[in-house]
Amino acid sequence: MASQTDIIIQQSLQSLMGDITYLPTVTDQHREQVFQSIAAILSTPNKVHKAFLRIPLQNGTVQRIPAYRVQHNDTLGPYKGGIRFHEHVNEAETINLAALMTLKNALHEVPFGGGKGGININPRDYTEKELNLICKKYVQNFNDILGPDKDIPAPDLGSGEREMDWMMAEYKSINPGKAYLGSFTGKSIVNGGSLGRKEATGRGVYFTFRYLLHDFLVREHEQIKQSTQVYAQTLLDISNRPRPLSLAFQGFGNVGAAAALEAYNCSHINGQVVAVSDRNVTLYCADGLPIPKLIAFADANRGDLPTEAEQLEALGITAEILDREAVLYLDVDVLFLVALQDQLRQDNVERVQAKLIVEGANAPITGEADQVLSDKGIVVIPDILANAGGVIVSYFEWLQGRETQFYSEEQVYDQLFNKMEQTMNSVLPLFFANSQPLRQNCYIHAMMKLSTALYRQGKLF
Ligand code: GLU
Repeated sequence: MASQTDIIIQQSLQSLMGDITYLPTVTDQHREQVFQSIAAILSTPNKVHKAFLRIPLQNGTVQRIPAYRVQHNDTLGPYKGGIRFHEHVNEAETINLAALMTLKNALHEVPFGGGKGGININPRDYTEKELNLICKKYVQNFNDILGPDKDIPAPDLGSGEREMDWMMAEYKSINPGKAYLGSFTGKSIVNGGSLGRKEATGRGVYFTFRYLLHDFLVREHEQIKQSTQVYAQTLLDISNRPRPLSLAFQGFGNVGAAAALEAYNCSHINGQVVAVSDRNVTLYCADGLPIPKLIAFADANRGDLPTEAEQLEALGITAEILDREAVLYLDVDVLFLVALQDQLRQDNVERVQAKLIVEGANAPITGEADQVLSDKGIVVIPDILANAGGVIVSYFEWLQGRETQFYSEEQVYDQLFNKMEQTMNSVLPLFFANSQPLRQNCYIHAMMKLSTALYRQGKLF
């Protein structure tokens, strides 16, 4: 069976086929061959590294934990991508996520290739000391392939500043005298992290939604009406709505909570966060939820939302408590998927009522479900477009580390939103002008950039 990566690459190449002219000297006879070379390069990772981390636990047993680092492609720069700490981590998933990083970085013109790491654990099952050891062993195992100019990990699901600080410290002690600040990004500020990095992905997710909405409104009377009915059906009634747009967020981790807070604070759009969910519950209130209070609660309760009526009452919050999946099927305008991959699948996608979906997580919609949504005219802002805020600010952090400079938070966000705006401006005209989903337009854009670089590097004979 073709992997998700193969499907993505093949789809993008098919879309590009008609337009080989962007590679100046490729003749018609050569076209097929060139495309096969691109497909061969981009649909397989350059390298897959695997190790078993042998960890003596505090209860006296020794565990062997599978760990991965996939280096998908480095055409545009050193490999870059997070390390996921999750019990579902496996080789195939890590490869797919690494391929998405290659496309994401290419799309946003971040000078990095794509990589991804993973450690197959549920971090909640380990003590802090054990987690520290797991991080150190990860670096010891993969030390030879990591480094500021080779492969630069960052946080992902289940990891954060603490883990990056530990890993950077291990890297530094194994490699005395070498530059180490750029070896990991997403570190704490005191250890060379960047202001704004923690909230960057979440804020970027919301930014793409805001920007698209703005564009929908601006273009309301131009292309949209003649272009597919999709956009009309989806968003045209926004400007004359009697009620604010209702927004639901699946996921209340670092990214989900930051995106929901951004939505809560945003005065540019008449929107209201009516639902949030986490691994235990969905909280719903048609009149809006007080996101700052919920964040304060989660911060004090290992990241969890309140699950009991008494807890809500004590916080002075009125909300219905629903099961955790309920968030996906609510009658809302916009659904932000900011939890895990494969949340909307063939078996549940028909139940979705939202008219616009934003992928804050990586790959939260399966290929089949994506097709169903697209057939129904539901617009999806894809992961590689929406959730790039993290890696973009990682790039700023890496630069700051190299220059031993420090940017203010304002500078970081100005540069982040500028960069995301540039990307939006490069894909939206194509999106509005043709009837392909936004995801396809993003892939086309990323693949054009990658294949042009490959071509000019002489790799496509
Ligand atoms: N893990 C994040 C992502 O999937 C950030 C990667 C990075 O900063 O390198 O985009």
